[in-house]
Amino acid sequence: MRLLILGPQGSGKGTQAERISQLYGIPAISTGQLIRNQIAKKTPLGKQIEGIITKGDLIDDALAFQLVLNRIAEPDCTKGFILDGFPRNVEQAKLLAARVKLNVVMYLHVPDSLVVERISNRLTCMKCGRIYNTTSLNPKKSGICDACGGKLEKRADDNEEAIRHRLEQFHEKTTPLIKYYGTQVKRFDGSKSIEHVANEVISFLETLPQ
Ligand SMILES: [Zn+2]
Repeated sequence: MRLLILGPQGSGKGTQAERISQLYGIPAISTGQLIRNQIAKKTPLGKQIEGIITKGDLIDDALAFQLVLNRIAEPDCTKGFILDGFPRNVEQAKLLAARVKLNVVMYLHVPDSLVVERISNRLTCMKCGRIYNTTSLNPKKSGICDACGGKLEKRADDNEEAIRHRLEQFHEKTTPLIKYYGTQVKRFDGSKSIEHVANEVISFLETLPQ
C-alpha cells in the first residue's frame, strides 16, 4: 500500500497518516519530520535547510526527493508507506513516478481561514514531531507529548505571516498536483473533526483491493 496524503498544513493530514500507519502497520513518512531530524542533528545539510524554512520557504525538489528515497529504501517500508509532504509539486511527482507507483492519493480539503486558525493554535513535539492543538487536540498532560514524553512547543514558523506565505505556496504549487493525479485523487472534507475524517478515510481504504 503506497499512499500519498495531500492537504495544507493544519488539514490534519499528519494525524490521519499516523492513524493509517497504526492500523495497517506501514510507516507514515513526513517530509517535515525528515527535515527536522536533519536540523536537530545539526548536520551541514540541516543548517542549510533551517535557513530556508525559517523564512517560510521550501527546500528544493532534488533535496526533498533524496531525503524521501533514502527513507523508503529502509526495511520497514517493504509493505508500503504513507507519504506526507512529498511530492508537493508536479516536478517532484514526476521524479517520484519514475521510481515509485502510488496506489492512492488522498486530499484533505480545508478553507484557508480555518488553516490559519488551526496553525495559530498548534503545538509540536520537539522530540517526535507529533502535532497537538490547544483548541481541538490537547495532550493528556499539558505541554508533554502523549507518544514520547517530549516537550511541546509552538514552532517558530507557526506565526500568521509564515502561515499565509506557506498557504500561497501550497495553492500555487500543490493544487496542480490534484490535476496531475486526476482520477487517482480521493477528496475528503478536512474541516470535519479528526474522528469524522478518520472514519471516512478508513472506510475508503477498506474498499481498495489488497
Ligand atoms: Zn513526541
